[in-house]
Amino acid sequence: MSYDLIVIGSGPGGYVCAIRAAQLGMKVAVVEKDKTFGGTCLNVGCIPSKALLHASERYEETGQLFDKMGIKVGKPKLDLAAMMKFKDEGVDGNVKGVAYLLKKNKIDTVQGTGRIAAPGKVEVKSAGGKSETLEAKAIVIATGSDVARLPGIDIDEKRIVSSTGALVLDKVPERMLVVGAGVIGLELGSVWRRLGADVIVVEFLDRILPGIDNEVCRQFQRILERQGIKFKLSSKVTAVDANGKTLKASVEPAAGGAAETIEADVVLVSIGRVPYTEGLGLEGVGVRTDNKGRVMVDEHFATNVPGVYAIGDVIAGPMLAHKAEDEGVAVAEIIAGQAGHVNYDVIPNVVYTFPEIASVGKSEEELKAAGVAFNVGKFPFTANGRAKINHQTDGFVKILADAKTDRVLGVHIVGADAGNMIAEAAVAMEFGAASEDIARTCHAHPTLTEAVKEAALAVAKRSINM
Ligand SMILES: Cc1cc2nc3c(=O)[nH]c(=O)nc-3n(C[C@H](O)[C@H](O)[C@H](O)COP(=O)(O)OP(=O)(O)OC[C@H]3O[C@@H](n4cnc5c(N)ncnc54)[C@H](O)[C@@H]3O)c2cc1C
Repeated sequence: MSYDLIVIGSGPGGYVCAIRAAQLGMKVAVVEKDKTFGGTCLNVGCIPSKALLHASERYEETGQLFDKMGIKVGKPKLDLAAMMKFKDEGVDGNVKGVAYLLKKNKIDTVQGTGRIAAPGKVEVKSAGGKSETLEAKAIVIATGSDVARLPGIDIDEKRIVSSTGALVLDKVPERMLVVGAGVIGLELGSVWRRLGADVIVVEFLDRILPGIDNEVCRQFQRILERQGIKFKLSSKVTAVDANGKTLKASVEPAAGGAAETIEADVVLVSIGRVPYTEGLGLEGVGVRTDNKGRVMVDEHFATNVPGVYAIGDVIAGPMLAHKAEDEGVAVAEIIAGQAGHVNYDVIPNVVYTFPEIASVGKSEEELKAAGVAFNVGKFPFTANGRAKINHQTDGFVKILADAKTDRVLGVHIVGADAGNMIAEAAVAMEFGAASEDIARTCHAHPTLTEAVKEAALAVAKRSINM
């Protein structure tokens, strides 16, 4: 079969790219090695983790907040199997949704592992061993990423798990040790703490959530500690002894020194993700990768081999579903001869814990390092009417604006629903807004978003409710 475009991988990068290309009139095929479409995000990433975060948050809320609100339901009882079913149904609905969209857009789907045999040629091997070769004018690599592993620690997905195993545990561990205080570790650590596990997070760096504004992280760590999560920063897990009934993790200071043993029932290894290019045949066709194994592309997502492009987790940049999606749209438009573009300065980042963390643009540390003069406007949720009536006053909104032009350079939120609130900041920044533009925009009352307006007012030191 001959196509205008073959996309290898059906994650948020791949399937969105395929749909946009079909909308632009291209004949498109998607090659996917897994049984279901949607990639990491829909099958073992964003979607199932958010289902468990949602359900476990309701569980904790029922136990802690309902009584205060005058709703007497007694102590909630956990039916973990039913919670897992709730999650699986959500995943199922989402992956079927992608299958429907691919069909609706008349995109051919080919099940099997794709290998670029030559520019314009993709050989697809099915699980049964059958192989066929497809031809196309352009190929987009959207093969995503895989779990990063720690040398000497074997992930069995039962007791020593990656995020994938942590999404399907069949009982709540009494003690969980999380290796790595990044987004995935803190989200899944939160899920299992809410369901009853004693959670300790070991992190190599001296802070949690590397890359996110320091002030946000400091407050967030205190909130998580109050919730019961323990942290061991500047420390590294060097080995896990899985011979006994309980796991014994050796933990050393990051700088080296005497090791201590921490016992746990489950160890979650969440130290990041690595690009996935296994079996793709990159070397054979000469597609260049960098020292981290990421496919190298230019500003048009083109690799060094003509007609071969790459997007999403398999290339450089934040490993986020919406970044992959936007690159999918952009590359489809570029291949169609249009001016596809992704604004990497305005990619929101959300941690879906409670409270949530959301940010877009630069952190204070980044602006200082770049020598940019800026003003800060901050507003705490303790002074927001809606947060007060909801009894959810943890956190604040912080806006960083250019000292000369007042242009918004970064917005950082810790608080309930921060993930939804950050969209306003992203739109404002995309349009090059000044903090005064946000401050003069009417925000509905009573909403948490009024804290965004107040933080914008605070940039000019004229917030009303503080
Ligand atoms: C637990 C967890 C939670 C996450 N939560 C969030 C979140 O809340 N928000 C967010 O933005 N991001 C989140 N992420 C990250 C997000 O999942 C990824 O950034 C996103 O899936 C990347 O999309 P992609 O299209 O590049 O690759 P993927 O989604 O990884 O898809 C790649 C696809 O390619 C297929 N494939 C690979 N090689 C081949 C081959 N040779 N032939 C055929 N098919 C192939 C794979 O089977 C897979 O289906 C999370 C990740 C994890 C693990």
